[in-house]
Amino acid sequence: MLIKEEIKLDYSDVLIRPKRSTMSSRGEVCLSRTHKFLWSTKEWTGIPVMSANMDTVGTPSMHKVLSDHKMITCPARHFLRDGVEKFKDGKNHVCWFGGIDEISHLSTVSSAFIGLDVANGYTIRFVDAVKKLREKCPNATIAAGNVVTGDMTQELILAGADIVKVGIGPGSVCTTRIKTGIGYPQLSAVIECADAAHGLNAHIIADGGCNSSGDIVKAFAGGADFVMIGGMLAGHDECEGVVENGVMEFYGMASESAMNKHNNHNSYRGAEGKTVKIPHRGKADDTVKDILSGIRSACTYVGANSLRTLSKCTTFVRVNNTHNTIYEH
Ligand code: 5GP
Repeated sequence: MLIKEEIKLDYSDVLIRPKRSTMSSRGEVCLSRTHKFLWSTKEWTGIPVMSANMDTVGTPSMHKVLSDHKMITCPARHFLRDGVEKFKDGKNHVCWFGGIDEISHLSTVSSAFIGLDVANGYTIRFVDAVKKLREKCPNATIAAGNVVTGDMTQELILAGADIVKVGIGPGSVCTTRIKTGIGYPQLSAVIECADAAHGLNAHIIADGGCNSSGDIVKAFAGGADFVMIGGMLAGHDECEGVVENGVMEFYGMASESAMNKHNNHNSYRGAEGKTVKIPHRGKADDTVKDILSGIRSACTYVGANSLRTLSKCTTFVRVNNTHNTIYEH
């Protein structure tokens, strides 16, 4: 047994210090990014915020809203088997994720990105699956995860991933940390995995744990190339589900609700996700505009004229702890 004494941070453990800026308006901030990927050598341009591939939020209607903003939708996994055409619109803003058993389905879809998505990206079986997907699809931009450490980020990249998805346990409807004690504070995971990936010219997605546009800003400021959100997009008109008494259901993909819906109970696996009721929030477009406005505003506070330079301009200040320490990033 080992104990790592170094403090690891969540989004709520830091704030970003304001800095002098020459900008006069948040309208001057460019949120669009162009990423060129290591193995596929393809380029993608857009606003790098993506919907989680969860039943309630990874829907065709959400895709319409997000792609208008040049943001990415990760369709809920069941569409991979029976609804790929619902996300075809000629735009380049879809990332299909599937499990290890879905490699053959994944290899047939044509989208900006494809990805392998498992709760625990640390198994040899998963690394072998990433290698297999890369062999089958040499020119595809491939994402893989989830992991939370630099060593495993590099292993997945060397196995063929262009983008590594980072986050174990931070999700708003995830109960992994409670059920298993496993996890890693998300901001530190993002900072460490981004450092590992960028050294190899690869990219990362910060997945889960963003409860506000401020958290999304902190993820980008920590080095994330993409940020994936689930709960923040839940409860909207574009979500799957009904509004009852002013609320909508939102459930984790490893929750009892998801297992019932997809009929994938088995004797050795319990739920590691929960079902919550979210107040109905109306149109997703309003929420998306609010999120983008928050990111733009943050950039003006630190003097970054684009999302690309936000991380360079960031100084995090530790809060909620006895000592306030400043981390130059
Ligand atoms: P959120 O943005 O809601 O905080 O987090 C979304 C992320 O939570 C998803 O992209 C996925 O990685 C994770 N997630 C979704 N459902 C579950 C679940 O049932 N259990 C766990 N452990 N994680 C989940």
